[in-house]
Amino acid sequence: MKIAILGAGLTGLSTAYHLKKDYAIYEKESTPGGLCRSLKQDGFTFDIAGHLLYFRDEENLFFVQRLLGDNCAAVNRNSWVRFQKRFIPYPFQCHLHGLNKTLVHECLCGFKKAKEKLCVQGASENFEEWIYATFGCGIARHFMIPYNRKFWRMSLRSLEASWAKKWIPVPTIKEVEEGALGISEKRFGYNSTFWYPRQGGIQALVDGLKSRVVPIETSHEVVEISVRDRRIVFKNGREVRYEKIVSTMPLLELGRMIAPLPEGIKKAFSKLRYISVYNVNLGVKKPLDPCKHWIYFPDRTPSFYRMGLASNFSRKLAPLNATALYFEFSYLPSRSFNKNNIIEKIRRSCSAMGFYFEKNDIATVQVNDIKYGYCLYTKERALALDVIRDYLKSEGILSCGRYGGWQYSSMEDALIEGHRSAQVFLKERRAS
Ligand SMILES: Cc1cc2nc3c(=O)[nH]c(=O)nc-3n(C[C@H](O)[C@H](O)[C@H](O)COP(=O)(O)OP(=O)(O)OC[C@H]3O[C@@H](n4cnc5c(N)ncnc54)[C@H](O)[C@@H]3O)c2cc1C
Repeated sequence: MKIAILGAGLTGLSTAYHLKKDYAIYEKESTPGGLCRSLKQDGFTFDIAGHLLYFRDEENLFFVQRLLGDNCAAVNRNSWVRFQKRFIPYPFQCHLHGLNKTLVHECLCGFKKAKEKLCVQGASENFEEWIYATFGCGIARHFMIPYNRKFWRMSLRSLEASWAKKWIPVPTIKEVEEGALGISEKRFGYNSTFWYPRQGGIQALVDGLKSRVVPIETSHEVVEISVRDRRIVFKNGREVRYEKIVSTMPLLELGRMIAPLPEGIKKAFSKLRYISVYNVNLGVKKPLDPCKHWIYFPDRTPSFYRMGLASNFSRKLAPLNATALYFEFSYLPSRSFNKNNIIEKIRRSCSAMGFYFEKNDIATVQVNDIKYGYCLYTKERALALDVIRDYLKSEGILSCGRYGGWQYSSMEDALIEGHRSAQVFLKERRAS
């Protein structure tokens, strides 16, 4: 049985690694890695925005350590929220100490009230309700709502909340109280410790996997999948036959390529929504801050929602006494991103918060416009996915990964999904 893996990002590479044989892997770009590629430029190494490894399951950490060998370091997160012109340790809800007393009171009392109510109320209908029900009015009003509105670029009422618990740390009352008193020592959240290659950027992980799979057919962009005669057509003119497909390309793109696609399924595909991310990487010829890893920005200005100091993950990402920075802006795909004067705007915002550099300190600029940044958990998503998955299964196609599965997921999840997809086919292989 010949399996065609479409896309050589982390999910596709992990599928290939676990399948071991009888597959081919096709990638549209000239190099594999998808969002986990790194680019070397003028002495700096840039990832596509920030890409840090964190693990919920030790098995996956061991797997990555085997791939990276000595080239893997554990790092204690040092992340912040920029709030009322000062830096508050992340997450906001656990570090209220030192803020204006009225605000602390509002956040603390609101949190307690919400916790009491939550015991009697059922599930929240939408993400905005979830925020109020989980954190109370104060934390919602001052941080959660403005930050998430800025990030998702839409009413939070139009999103559901099933994904939120996995990504947003929810403390206990005691933890919020300790945070307000300034006596909290705990580090919160899924990424309180992260792992990162000592050198080479996150691409090192891709290289570790790449060397353990069959040669990847790069510059092979799928443009059509004919399900009747199980044939894949590539932009370069080549055509191949397949028995089964593991697709890791964005689900919306897959839908556009399948021919013929029944009308009902087309309708289900049309329900999928996403936001895009514009990432600017800057190489600056001076040290800016030796410790901070990344910072969240809930206010309207600056217009980026997060910035990071990548050279604090690994000093090898920048030359000596220089800093590698990244900035992330989200935007709706229906409106193009306004890039006017973007570098100067970034420079001024940085200087205003203490990361001071002049125009001529900028050694290099690298930009990534990520069309499919985050898949949206709209209310129609779950039902549409059920319909699409059933149909794809009937045609021998398994779509998985962050964009293939249309979900909010991490690199660890990509590795797991690749493993799971391989198992599905290995089971079939054994049964036949
Ligand atoms: C801004 C941002 C920051 C992130 N930060 C982190 C982080 O810190 N930690 C973390 O764990 N995760 C992070 N992630 C998530 C992480 O990037 C993903 O979970 C992971 O890279 C998904 O891998 P994938 O293989 O599923 O998808 P992709 O990396 O998108 O791979 C899909 C592959 O399919 C290829 N492809 C697409 N169309 C075609 C076609 N027509 N024909 C052939 N090939 C095609 C693409 O070129 C690509 O190589 C972040 C994501 C974003 C957007």
